[in-house]
Amino acid sequence: MRIGSGIDVHAFGPGDFVMLGGVRVPHTHGVVAHSDGDVVLHALTDALLGAAGLGDIGQHFKDTDPRWKGADSKRFVRAVMDMLRDRRLRVGNADVTVLAERPKLSPVRDDIRGQVAALLEVGLEQVNVKATTTEKLGFLGRAEGIAAQAVVLLLDVG
Ligand code: MG
Repeated sequence: MRIGSGIDVHAFGPGDFVMLGGVRVPHTHGVVAHSDGDVVLHALTDALLGAAGLGDIGQHFKDTDPRWKGADSKRFVRAVMDMLRDRRLRVGNADVTVLAERPKLSPVRDDIRGQVAALLEVGLEQVNVKATTTEKLGFLGRAEGIAAQAVVLLLDVG
């Protein structure tokens, strides 16, 4: 059994949606990012890599690599899931927290949960998606960006 954690932050910029857990969420801004800037999937990718002892997302998917320009972040998670399969590891459960004043997560929380469960190849009950604000404090509180934290447990395939 192995545990891993991941954190990701992106600044808001021009645009009218943000990607969260592979779900397109309407918003007053987009995010500034090389890929699609999905903080949930980036935090999850780092948590999976961390649990497996495989470094971090920047080592595997460089943010200067033209291959990842505008990339769908589901590709990062799927690539790491392939690495885990090779190492005979599978996901036990995942717990994700989105930190933002806006957009509000409640309308899309179930969609995100479903997407993440599918990507991690587990049942819905193995995935939890939480949201919190920072009580208007700091860059998140000023709605200058969005952050996510993920914790995953990996199990050895029997
Ligand atoms: Mg990122």
